[in-house]
Amino acid sequence: MLVDSFGRQITYVRLAVTDRCNLRCFYCMPAEGIDYVPKNDLLSFEEMERMVSILTTLGVTKVRITGGEPFVRRDLMQFLRKLRTNSALEELHITTNGVLTGDYIQQLKDIDISSINLSLDTLDKARFKNITRRDEFDTVMATYGKILDQHIPLKVNMVVMKGKNEEDIIPMAKLSLEDNVSVRYIEEMPFNGTGTAHNVIDYKEIISVLEGEFGQLQRIEDPLNSTAYHYKAPYSKGNLGVIAAYSRTFCGSCNRIRITSEGTMKNCLYDSGGLNLRDLMRSGYSDKELSESLKKAIMGKHKDGWAAEANRQSQSFESMSSIGG
Ligand code: SAM
Ligand code: SF4
Repeated sequence: MLVDSFGRQITYVRLAVTDRCNLRCFYCMPAEGIDYVPKNDLLSFEEMERMVSILTTLGVTKVRITGGEPFVRRDLMQFLRKLRTNSALEELHITTNGVLTGDYIQQLKDIDISSINLSLDTLDKARFKNITRRDEFDTVMATYGKILDQHIPLKVNMVVMKGKNEEDIIPMAKLSLEDNVSVRYIEEMPFNGTGTAHNVIDYKEIISVLEGEFGQLQRIEDPLNSTAYHYKAPYSKGNLGVIAAYSRTFCGSCNRIRITSEGTMKNCLYDSGGLNLRDLMRSGYSDKELSESLKKAIMGKHKDGWAAEANRQSQSFESMSSIGG
């Protein structure tokens, strides 16, 4: 099993299958001048499958596919189908921006994807273009509709930013009135390549905006190890979640690790990363040796994101597109 020095068992892995993306959300990536990882340095699907297989023997039951944008990686569906043959993997989720995803909804349904997280920061077409630097709002909304039509569990992720999309907090919440969707508000984190989050609105402010509209929200039970506080607006089909990603209030029960697109294992979003699994695999490590390396690396997991950040050697100029969110 993968257990850290605080007794937390790791059962959840977030796997970034690429650092490439077809949007340029300003809170995630610079507009241009991006240093993509050279193709050969990205983990191959075979390497990812092997890592997932080792991780499931160590007690991991849940994987989230993320990126960059997962669907810009060719043959993604084939890879997902392969992962689905691993019977120890109980849950397979995906986070996507929805631009290319619409064509794959039926196939995602066919492999019984556990849920889709769709990133959508606004319901206003012009603001969408400002935030993502691309004109794809209608495509993403069409994907939203297709996911609902197929009854695939759906969460919509909105990064809430001062002066950028605060006016969307309420319209987004209203999606949960009519649709069976979980709308999740995420505090902005400092992973846009500059090392600073410029427009943070904290979770308390977000809740107070919501309560200004709906009155006191009903607090509902959070799933085990959830990073979100969950609420329900009156008479709603879906629910609301608030993720204190910058305030880091949820680290105590952390059960996750991340694997970046170039195979670096990260114990925390805010640490500087450690073990490079790609290099170990390419230098001929056996499955047993990889398992031992993973177990050892987990012991380096810090108590929380604040400790992880304090222990970095240098400031982070990482982009979320290479870490995977
Ligand atoms: N491209 C896919 C997408 O956008 O859904 C998957 C990768 S993206 C890096 C994963 C998640 O990270 C998205 O929900 C995105 O909104 C979130 N994210 C990216 N940069 C962020 C930041 N600086 N602060 C908070 N969330 C961020
Ligand atoms: Fe691309 Fe997702 Fe980052 Fe937006 S948040 S630039 S869609 S990786």
